[in-house]
Amino acid sequence: MSGKITFTMIKPDAVADGHIGAILGKISEAGYKVKALKLTQLTNADAKKFYEVHAERPFYGELVDFMSSGPIVAAVLEKENAVEDFRTLIGATNPADAAEGTIRKMFARSVGENAVHGSDSDENALIEASFHFSGREIF
Ligand code: ATP
Ligand code: MG
Repeated sequence: MSGKITFTMIKPDAVADGHIGAILGKISEAGYKVKALKLTQLTNADAKKFYEVHAERPFYGELVDFMSSGPIVAAVLEKENAVEDFRTLIGATNPADAAEGTIRKMFARSVGENAVHGSDSDENALIEASFHFSGREIF
């Protein structure tokens, strides 16, 4: 599976703003096949663990509070060159810097509330997919 899989979350801002359908549409148009999908909510402990690599960053507390503040959509996606192409599709972390037509440019509120997550490596894609889904939820 490695190389063809990425993991994404539609973050609480984009869910609250009613963008689930539009974002899944962009993902589908970009050629991704949905391997797993659910509406769920992270606990504070889940969000802390998921974003542990950022524990020393000044925005960590804010990030954890935000990511556990409301429902998210978690998904595992498949396509050739999945991780890198998905980062291009979502755009820069700060929507102000994101290219026109990218998901963050279209739907994000701010650098903190930036609509979507995308895995940053093949290794992390698999770790993140297993964090959210059991084996029998991935098709
Ligand atoms: P993600 O991992 O969610 O796909 P990313 O890889 O583009 O985002 P990271 O550097 O991994 O960016 O940061 C993780 C998340 O932390 C960002 O998506 C954003 O929600 C939040 N974040 C990053 N930088 C800032 C900042 N300067 N101020 C507030 N929040 C930030
Ligand atoms: Mg990241």
